[in-house]
Amino acid sequence: MSPQVFDPAAALRPRLPSPLQPVEDERFARRGVRLLLKRDDLIHPDLPGNKWRKLTPNLTAAAGRPLLTFGGAFSNHLRATAAAGRLLGVVTIGVVRGHELADRPLNDSLARCAADGMRLVFVDRTTYRAKADPAVVARVIATAGGIPDSVYVVPEGGSNALAARGCADLGRELRGAADVVAVACGTGGTVAGLAAGLAPGQRAVGFPVLKGGFLTADVERLQRDAFGGRRGDWSLDDRFHGGGYARIPAEVHRFADEFETRHGLPLERLYVAKMLHGLTALVAEGAFRPGTSVAAVVTGAPDPDPAAVTGARGPAGRPQREGERSRDADQSSPSR
Ligand SMILES: *Cc1c(COP(=O)(O)O)cnc(C)c1O
Repeated sequence: MSPQVFDPAAALRPRLPSPLQPVEDERFARRGVRLLLKRDDLIHPDLPGNKWRKLTPNLTAAAGRPLLTFGGAFSNHLRATAAAGRLLGVVTIGVVRGHELADRPLNDSLARCAADGMRLVFVDRTTYRAKADPAVVARVIATAGGIPDSVYVVPEGGSNALAARGCADLGRELRGAADVVAVACGTGGTVAGLAAGLAPGQRAVGFPVLKGGFLTADVERLQRDAFGGRRGDWSLDDRFHGGGYARIPAEVHRFADEFETRHGLPLERLYVAKMLHGLTALVAEGAFRPGTSVAAVVTGAPDPDPAAVTGARGPAGRPQREGERSRDADQSSPSR
């Protein structure tokens, strides 16, 4: 594929703009609040939601060069990157947190990355934490061997300035459609772009699924890198992470089961269910005036791997400890 015809955004055939669907839910109606679902999960079967919006600008910038990126053993971002590599014929390398995983059978998520042709490189947690340091990345590349010098590096979770700019389209698609937009946050690239793309008078509320309270600074940094400063009206509500990444309290599972029954929409649990659970709590608190319309972004689809959503897993795939993750996220500087 020559660079001049390399157009990942077109080649991946996205469904855009993603559909916006009104939902009848009495918990919202009772408060005079209108709920809409922004179905970003329908953008692409292999690169759902924000993963398509974040990855395609980076794929374009990489212009066919091999892509190297980072993730945990259950990373949606790694899977989306691997799928993009298969679909576009691009070499992908996934640097995975956890040296000990190298000697164990791959979990389903990593097995799918490998099946899509992604080369997996396992690193210890100290190295992983330092992955924003170009010298550390260079050492990983040199040690692994066989990785071309020309690699294009995408940070953990895919959040960098290009990703945030890609997510501004999500905000633009929602102009005039809702007063408030709710979105789940991991590394923050999605809410950074979304808020920048909304019209004046609209606001975004982000629901971090990680514990630690570091995300406001990360989103501000992403907005600075992508747009030159803070953009749009946004805030984060840190009360609904449920204990941290991949920890899903029984209450959230109950909420999600019930939402699925009511609305016939299977919910991704690590992000989307936590966000809708938090949003429903805000409505119950009276956080929104009657007459407010709220669009909830469905950023992804449920994982077909049940082990990844129940938390039923051995030490190989244990969810990381909180301290680890917050430090990792602190380190995942988008300014690469
Ligand atoms: C990756 C992901 C997110 C988090 O997006 P960030 O840009 O990292 O905040 C949210 N929802 C789903 C379903 C995801 O896979």
